[in-house]
Amino acid sequence: MKYYSTNGKAPMADLRKAVVKGLAEDKGLYMPETIKTLPVEFYNDIASMSFRDIAYNVASAFFGEDVDGDALQDIVYDTLSFDCPVVKVTDNIYSLELFHGPTLAFKDVGARFMARLLQYFIRGERLATRGEVNVLVATSGDTGSAVANGFLGVDGIHVYVLYPKGKVSPIQECQFTTLGKNITAIEVDGVFDDCQALVKNAFMDEELNQHMKLTSANSINVARFLPQAFYYFYAYAQLMKKGVIRNEQRGSAQSSNLVVCVPSGNFGNICAGLFAKRMGLPVKRFIAANNANSVFYEYLQNGIYNPRPSIQTIANAMDVGDPSNFARVYDLYNKEYEAIRKDISGATYTDEQIADTMRKVYRNAGYICDPHGACGYRALSEGLEPDEMGVFLETAHPAKFKITVDEILGIDIEIPAKLQAFMQGTKQSVQMSKDFKDFKAYLMNK
Ligand SMILES: *Cc1c(COP(=O)(O)O)cnc(C)c1O
Repeated sequence: MKYYSTNGKAPMADLRKAVVKGLAEDKGLYMPETIKTLPVEFYNDIASMSFRDIAYNVASAFFGEDVDGDALQDIVYDTLSFDCPVVKVTDNIYSLELFHGPTLAFKDVGARFMARLLQYFIRGERLATRGEVNVLVATSGDTGSAVANGFLGVDGIHVYVLYPKGKVSPIQECQFTTLGKNITAIEVDGVFDDCQALVKNAFMDEELNQHMKLTSANSINVARFLPQAFYYFYAYAQLMKKGVIRNEQRGSAQSSNLVVCVPSGNFGNICAGLFAKRMGLPVKRFIAANNANSVFYEYLQNGIYNPRPSIQTIANAMDVGDPSNFARVYDLYNKEYEAIRKDISGATYTDEQIADTMRKVYRNAGYICDPHGACGYRALSEGLEPDEMGVFLETAHPAKFKITVDEILGIDIEIPAKLQAFMQGTKQSVQMSKDFKDFKAYLMNK
């Protein structure tokens, strides 16, 4: 499969190049040249298939031309070591719980898949050059923990996680500073933007790139965002198994009454859902739920995309003022505003509305939403038509946002054993100034 750049000024790339480079030469995002639809038989059988086998079928459609079948199956099976159950919350609204992975956030799937795929591509080369690949990632919390855990112990790859000192939650910090092995946490005396600037400067520095192989692991990478399509197929399979999706709706988006709502920040996750629909998954429409960072919501209202600096909210993994995957959504619909509006509607909520929703859902249904999932629930509860049914993606375990959740709901939410295990580890980090000279000197010594 060939991949083109959304900016249209870079040469086509093969999968290996798209994964290793991340961004195209013209700073565009890579898109697969074709999106294969899955056969009718797949949709007929889907309710009786395991998550892993559904995912393997989907992965084969994307990557089957470029990755050997057995290797791809290993990568998929290794990535999906946990379940993503669909849980009924209220009458016609279901939660797809994506938080049962190693760091209790949905990014675990994309991060692990990318780690294993990158390993597959560099294995042969490494024997020849003996060089490691170095992944640099700047984080305000969630991405760093998912990437660090996804790449943990993966041979031939070293990860440097740069995070702002004192500005990530204690739970998140534990998730990437206690791992050791091939993961190095770098504590930057600055803010998130300083971390991001250090990473960007490192990619542009010629001397450094001569010295070591550098790559990035954020959601612009095709290997991180495409595997997120697995969730949508699996949600559909579970709803069909529960008998919620009626027979006559099978296999056709026209007759589907399923609405999928995705709490969105950089729009990688929802973009993977739009790909799933293109592959024939019968979803009627999507809702992109935002916090107060409403750039995409406004675009849907007036057709004008007006990126601006992000605002801090209690759903902080969605504090994005210029969603990087907007370029992919725009490209997928041939830049046609009306076509985008037909498939996606939007919603935007203040912190107060998010907190209010969390309290209502907890009181009325006994379900604890995290602040991100709460945006998803609310958008469905306000936006579903009488004959529709909805699934929202619960993107993180509420205990990851314990301080916020406890305060809003007046509870003392239990921290799952998996999270507690991180908190018992010993923190190890490298202190770093925000001056690129220092960071470069540190890497040149490696
Ligand atoms: C990353 C993240 C999001 C946003 O996902 P995008 O793919 O960037 O839109 C939402 N919720 C949580 C908990 C996240 O970690």
